[in-house]
Formats: sequence, C-alpha cells, structure tokens
Amino acid sequence: MGRVALVTGGSRGIGAAISKALKAEGYEVAATYAGNTEKAAAFTDETGIKTYKWNVADYDESKAGIAQVEADLGPVDIVVANAGITRDAPFHKMSPEQWKEVIDTNLTGVFNTVHPIWPGMRERKFGRVIVISSINGQKGQFGQVNYAATKAGDLGIVKSLAQEGARAGITANAICPGYIATEMVMAVPEAVREKIVGMIPAGRLGEPEEIARIVTFLASDDASFINGSTISANGAQFFA
Ligand code: NDP
Repeated sequence: MGRVALVTGGSRGIGAAISKALKAEGYEVAATYAGNTEKAAAFTDETGIKTYKWNVADYDESKAGIAQVEADLGPVDIVVANAGITRDAPFHKMSPEQWKEVIDTNLTGVFNTVHPIWPGMRERKFGRVIVISSINGQKGQFGQVNYAATKAGDLGIVKSLAQEGARAGITANAICPGYIATEMVMAVPEAVREKIVGMIPAGRLGEPEEIARIVTFLASDDASFINGSTISANGAQFFA
C-alpha cells in the first residue's frame, strides 16, 4: 500500500492500539510521544513502529518533528491527532494554568499537528485527518470545563477542515470514545470505576482496539464519502 500514517500520542493507550492496527493494515506508521521515553522504546521493541518525541503544544517542534517523519517515511497521508491530557478540577477551583495546558495540548495541538501536513495533502489530492475527541466534548463533564471545551472544539475543527479539503480528496472526521480501558481509566480507584461502568448500558469499558478499528476504516478508501462526521463509540452511554 505504501501510505504513511502519523499517530500523535501513538506509543501507549488508545494511540498505541491505533498505531498497531494501522501497521497491520500495511501502512508505514510513525508514533509520537511527549516524554515517556522508556514506554516508547518498549513500544518500538514490541512492534517495530518508529517513535518520535515532540510536544504537540509547540508549533515549531511539531513542524520539525513532522519534517523528520516525512524525511524518514515519506509524505504523511493519514494523520491521527490523538495526543491528549486531562487536568481536572471543578470550575471554581480550575487554575488558568490548568485551562491553558489542556487547551495548548488538546486543541492547539491538533492545529500544530495537522497544519504542517495539510499543504502536502492538498497537493497530492489525498488525505485523511482523524481527530480523537471524546464523549465529554459532546455532553460536557463535571470537573472538565477545559477538557470538554477542547474536545467540543475538535468537532468544529473537523467540520471546517472537511469543507476546505473535500475537493482536494481530503476527509476530516472525529471519533468520540466513551470510557476506554487505558492506563488513565484503569488508574481510577476500583469503586469509582465500577460507578463509571454502571453508567454504561453496555456494562463494560471499551477496548482501545474498538477505537483503532474505526480509525482503520476512516483511513481506508472505503470511507471516502465520510467527511466532517463525528463517530461515537461509547456502549450506548450517550447519543449525539
Ligand atoms: P494516554 O494518557 O494513555 O496516552 C496519551 C498519549 O499522548 C501518550 O502517548 C503521551 O505521551 C501523549 N501525549 C500527551 N501529551 C502530549 C504532548 N503535549 N505532546 C505529545 N504527546 C503527548 O491517553 P489515552 O490513550 O487514554 O487517550 C488518547 C486520546 O483519547 C486522548 O486525546 C484522550 O483525550 C482521548 N480519549 C480517551 C478516553 C479514555 O477513556 N481513555 C475517552 C475519550 C477520549 P507520553 O507517553 O510520552 O506521556
């Protein structure tokens, strides 16, 4: 196939499942991470997928990192903006720093990731932009004014990019996962986790691979008319 895929935050959690699934489909995959070098090295050893370290919140770092990926693997055809963080607090206790860190990483990070790749996609008349949003961007969440704002913002980004890219063979879509069994969620105390599972009609957490399979479909030629869409995967917890 020869197409190149870039997955930010692709070394662990949902991103790792996405990187592996894309590799299994025959893509050349580059996975990025922020600072957990040990985990990234173990991921490369396990999968053979090359990892790159940069901060998605920094435009110049992102641009330089993407240039390195493209020098190593070729132009990026599929970009999965997956890197994300939480800095939760009820609004009255949320600090400007907590607000800014999440906006810079989750929202500006999407701009920084897609913007350097976009002109090449337009020239080559093919591209797939896939942004990992969240159920909490659709419905809001107590203690997550910052996070929900970024994840709702993702939906505006893909709807706009879809309109700008459609004639150039580029699609842009968002996936809104519900609660997925990653380290982040598994680190929550068991009692709280049970409460979370109790709110999910499916009666279980989602698996990272269940998100990864949506990504491989959206990346494929079969998904060429899906553009500007939001795909929810949440075990019937919320409809949007
Ligand atoms: P994890 O915390 O398991 O992994 C996050 C990944 O993003 C890591 O690879 C991390 O790198 C990277 N990362 C974090 N900050 C930056 C940064 N500033 N620059 C570059 N890379 C960064 O997250 P999940 O797998 O749980 O989540 C992945 C995405 O899915 C996120 O956008 C999240 O909001 C979203 N999501 C998750 C849900 C869940 O239930 N888990 C539900 C809904 C949405 P490093 O390893 O170096 O720290």
